[in-house]
Amino acid sequence: MIKFLDLYKVNQRFRPEIEDRIKRILDSGYYILGNECKTFEKNFSKYIGTKYCIGCASGLDALNLIIKGYGFKQDDEIIAPANTYIASILAISENMCKPVLVEPDINSYNIDSNLIEKKISKKTKAIMVVHLYGQAVQMNEIWEIAKKYNLKIIEDSAQAHGAYYANKRTGNLGDAAGFSFYPSKNLGAFGDGGCITTNDKELANKIRAIANYGSEYKYYHIYKGINSRLDEIQSAILDVKLKYLDIDNTKRREISKFYRDNIKNPKIILPKINNELSHVWHIFPIRVRNRNKFRNYMEKKGIQTNIHYPIAIHKQSAYSEWNSLSYPVTEKIHDQIISIPISPVMSDFEIHKVVEVINEWR
Ligand SMILES: *Cc1c(COP(=O)(O)O)cnc(C)c1O
Repeated sequence: MIKFLDLYKVNQRFRPEIEDRIKRILDSGYYILGNECKTFEKNFSKYIGTKYCIGCASGLDALNLIIKGYGFKQDDEIIAPANTYIASILAISENMCKPVLVEPDINSYNIDSNLIEKKISKKTKAIMVVHLYGQAVQMNEIWEIAKKYNLKIIEDSAQAHGAYYANKRTGNLGDAAGFSFYPSKNLGAFGDGGCITTNDKELANKIRAIANYGSEYKYYHIYKGINSRLDEIQSAILDVKLKYLDIDNTKRREISKFYRDNIKNPKIILPKINNELSHVWHIFPIRVRNRNKFRNYMEKKGIQTNIHYPIAIHKQSAYSEWNSLSYPVTEKIHDQIISIPISPVMSDFEIHKVVEVINEWR
């Protein structure tokens, strides 16, 4: 069986180093907001290229904290792609703001920047871009729109640790960015985790306080905050794995290149990219008309697949107020998209096998 993602194998590679670091924490007696978190924040902000990084409890919280940090409130509108994981949109509605959905481009699967301007109103405060599947959004037009209408750019970078646009990494392409360290992400913890990156000092300080019960000094609360922190053990694990992130992303790019060069089946639509560095292949999404049949075929041949995602957000019960709306491009993607295995621990045998089985699909 070729697993969709063998997380055990992914993490075993770092076992001795991680065990050492965890021992250090057991010896220190510090578990939250200690040196491990500080060290990881410093190293991650250096990696991304931003001045600040603030650890928090999850990717959803990272986005939630950015919106709280800006003080966006009831009825403020935030433009976001209709084709994303639900967390992007939940972060907006959690703060009583209004998500304004924009269709994606069918080739990149990312927000179609040509459709943004006509969705801007007097209440629009920000554009949230999502670097979906690991591919950096083409930011040029979005930078122009944000400047023209004085909007903040929030990046959901939960799937794109290390991807580049115009020589900068995602997480350094807008005003503030949210990352997730959920175990299966390109940089994954041994549990939940996330962080915010930004160059805005004031915002960084405010977010750091809000994430820690709204206090800068213990027991002095300046905001009605929340509790969302990255603990010492997760910080240490992430700090070990960060050193290998570029190597892992290179391996993902190699597999992707092999897939794109060798999968030759007119029934399969392969992903399109702008340049090799713009994508870190968190997911390798292909499109196929008869998705269920294809999925069963792959399963029978011993290859696990996944669907990112089966139901569009506007069709979910949680957003019943949107169920009658129509986003045809988003719906088409959700009907046809299927993810095939890609990870830094796949063997050459497995990679060749995936190609062979897909090319035999009729
Ligand atoms: C994983 C993910 C999130 C949420 O991250 P969590 O750490 O699971 O809260 C947000 N947005 C996108 C696009 C994601 O893939």
